[in-house]
Amino acid sequence: MAAKEKYAEPTYLECGFGELEYKVISPEACCRCGTCEAFCPRIEHKENKPTLVDYDPLCGLCFAYCPRTFLDMGEMEAKLFGRTRNADETLGIYKKAVSAQAQARQEKAQDGGVATALLVQALQSGMIDCAVVTGRDEEWRTVASVATTAEEIKAAAGTKYTISNSVVAVKEALDRGFQKIGFVGTPCQIQALRKVQLLEEPYELGQKKIALLVGLFCMENFEYDELMQGLVKAKFGLDPKDVSRFEIKKGMFRVIDKNGAAHEVKIEETDAFTFKGCGPCFDFASELADVSVGSVGSGEGWSTVITRTEAGDKLYASALAAGAMQEKAVSEKGLALAKRLAVGKEQRFVSKSQEMNVSGIKR
Ligand SMILES: Cc1cc2nc3c(=O)[nH]c(=O)nc-3n(C[C@H](O)[C@H](O)[C@H](O)COP(=O)(O)OP(=O)(O)OC[C@H]3O[C@@H](n4cnc5c(N)ncnc54)[C@H](O)[C@@H]3O)c2cc1C
Ligand code: SF4
Ligand code: SF4
Repeated sequence: MAAKEKYAEPTYLECGFGELEYKVISPEACCRCGTCEAFCPRIEHKENKPTLVDYDPLCGLCFAYCPRTFLDMGEMEAKLFGRTRNADETLGIYKKAVSAQAQARQEKAQDGGVATALLVQALQSGMIDCAVVTGRDEEWRTVASVATTAEEIKAAAGTKYTISNSVVAVKEALDRGFQKIGFVGTPCQIQALRKVQLLEEPYELGQKKIALLVGLFCMENFEYDELMQGLVKAKFGLDPKDVSRFEIKKGMFRVIDKNGAAHEVKIEETDAFTFKGCGPCFDFASELADVSVGSVGSGEGWSTVITRTEAGDKLYASALAAGAMQEKAVSEKGLALAKRLAVGKEQRFVSKSQEMNVSGIKR
């Protein structure tokens, strides 16, 4: 692989994979975003975790860009928005919050199909020349890929509630020569890519080619093997191949099979399958995205959309103007619920960080 030939130069950090392993991977604080694997030619994904496969020159790259080694949100916000958030901005800094629905909503769309519609609009308007999306195989294993057509973006619609090292596909997009890369993903993946973009580190990775970050809301995620074995097979007696949709609604984790039958348990009953790396995570609403999309706050078939940066706001406005989506006001009750979840996630972050001895993340 061409990427393997480009080794980064050492920096003052002198923290290498050993420190990353000690601080993040061994204590299972890794969110498995894939960033270290994407940008360091010496790290590969083995046995379900980042693994060093060559000697380590302590260049500091993996340590610098990992969202779990250190993250100063104040610093990131100041760079991205020109200010830090106020105490009452529990969903982060934003311009506008609305409910929206794509006009040609995909059958597979999780909610309003807005994440897909925004990426398609960005591609068709020339804002991006490809989009890194997370699709799936027949058995619901995540497959991150570089989509270059509207059809490929649409094919990845729908939520896969399993952890995915999707940032690896950003490296693939760079290697394939794309100049304006769009990405959609979870808050932890967005944090990692913003770090890559905004930290003034002396690594030339092509970070200026990251043109759009569409963030999803996220309360928690699950381990593939545990979720499929423990819930889908053991509890519901289903083969993952026979599942047509997963959803979390009103406190229930629901699996819809291919015959349309719903199987559900209370969300608390899925705790055993939760990915451990989600514990020390404070970000519910993808606060460092250009535009964030989630289901909480809006009705069935609609998405809650939060525009944050100038680029995200313009993209959303252009999608509306092009008739690619319709909008309505998000209810006060809906927004209040999203805020409550964000506060709850932050509280969990505080207690889990103590429990797991995670330091270096400043809210
Ligand atoms: C793990 C996870 C947990 C979530 N938890 C919440 C929650 O607690 N509350 C809430 O309101 N919303 C949550 N969401 C967001 C919600 O499920 C929808 O993704 C969001 O509302 C967008 O819907 P849509 O119809 O606009 O997206 P669609 O048009 O269906 O597009 C969804 C996009 O999500 C991407 N995607 C799917 N699975 C993954 C994954 N595992 N990792 C990275 N990217 C992925 C795909 O590339 C696709 O482009 C979660 C999403 C994920 C992935
Ligand atoms: S959190 Fe991401 S960057 Fe950090 S060790 Fe895990 S996969 Fe690598
Ligand atoms: S809860 Fe946090 S760590 Fe887990 S998938 Fe969501 S954003 Fe990533």
